[in-house]
Formats: sequence, C-alpha cells, structure tokens
Amino acid sequence: MANKGAPQCAFCGVDLRACFSKEGKGPAFCPTLHRTGDARRALKKYSDPRTKRFAKVASLQEAECYVDRGAKAGVLKPVKTRVEEIIEFSRKMGYKKIGVAFCGGLFSEANAFVRILEKNGFEVLSVCCKVGGVPKEFLGLKDREKVRIGTYETMCNPINQAEIFNTAKTDFNVLVGLCVGHDSLFFKHAKALSTVLVAKDRVLGHNPVAALYGVKVYFQRLLKP
Ligand code: SF4
Repeated sequence: MANKGAPQCAFCGVDLRACFSKEGKGPAFCPTLHRTGDARRALKKYSDPRTKRFAKVASLQEAECYVDRGAKAGVLKPVKTRVEEIIEFSRKMGYKKIGVAFCGGLFSEANAFVRILEKNGFEVLSVCCKVGGVPKEFLGLKDREKVRIGTYETMCNPINQAEIFNTAKTDFNVLVGLCVGHDSLFFKHAKALSTVLVAKDRVLGHNPVAALYGVKVYFQRLLKP
C-alpha cells in the first residue's frame, strides 16, 4: 500500500470527479484538490511552445478518434485503430521521418507496420532490438541467465536503437513490442519523442490488459501473489 496522503486515483469512488468537472469533488487523497504545487509546475512546462503544440495535437487527435461527437446522448463511438491514430497524429505534427524500434520476436508485425507507414508517405527507419549483436555476457549475464541456456545469445540493445534514430534525426519514434525495461531505456535515450504501438505480452498476444479484464476469475492468481 502507498503511504498515507499518496494520490490514489485508481481507488476514487466519487461520482462527479473534480478532475472531470468544475463542480466535481474529490476524496482526501485527491491530487486535483491537494497537489496544487505539482499542478502549477506541470502547467508551467506547457509554456514551452513545442510541448504545448505536441500536447494540443495529441488532444486534437484523441477527439478525432471518435465520430458523432456532438450527439446529445454522448455515447462514445471510436473509429480509429492505434495504427491510424499514429499515422494521423504524425501527419498533423508534420513529421516526415519515423523510427520504428521493434522486438526481434515481432519481425512480421514490424514489417507490416513499416509498409503501412511507407504507403502513407513517411520515410521510415526500423531497427531490431538485437542491433549491434552484442553477446549478453557484456552485461555480466551468466549462461544460466539466458533465454535459451547453453546458446550464444545477443542482448536487446535499446540504447543502440535510440542512438541510430538520434543520428538519423527521426522526427518521432514508435515502439513495437520492446520488453519491459528495454522500453524504458529507449525512452530515456531517444532524443525524439516516442510512442508505443505494441506493448509486449508474451502470453496474451501483446494485449496485457486481458490479464486485468480477467483478474476476478482466470487471472485471480495476480491478486494472490
Ligand atoms: S484527481 Fe481527484 S477526483 Fe480525479 S480521480 Fe483522482 S482522486 Fe478522483
């Protein structure tokens, strides 16, 4: 459990929320009501024109992923896949060159995505996670700590993926299935902003939220570690 006073929006039971409505309310742990210093610092960061434009276009794209937005009933009607969302967002931002950082386990998915981007007029660079061919021993890993024990195994090298895109001056990067942690290093070292098309989940067909949908029954083991 988080310490007392820590924001816990995931446990917010308020009907009309302070972060959704001007008339809304929030519980004792509500960061909208009680973390005004953080909010002030955050808003200040939007004064950078590039950040502000990026945020504005992201919200514009968010809205355009729905149709019938003016309908009185307000029932959401989403119509765009994430692939389309990335294409449209990139166009709005005026991006020309896109870096696709992908996992070696998703070659065919990366191939499909790159072809789609190219058909849509983008210049695309794609780099596999194993780029550089550096053996895992470089990281101090022992043979018994490899995926396939007893074999020559190269490490995932997200920093190398990022450096290649930095050198090429990509406008935007898209991650396709990088492992947990490898994605973090990519985000830290890439100069261009990056988004995720595929979040790796080796068991659930790269649909990690399925474990959360199923937590009451088939994945209850997750709540009983
Ligand atoms: S910001 Fe406040 S009102 Fe909004 S979800 Fe979090 S706790 Fe609830």
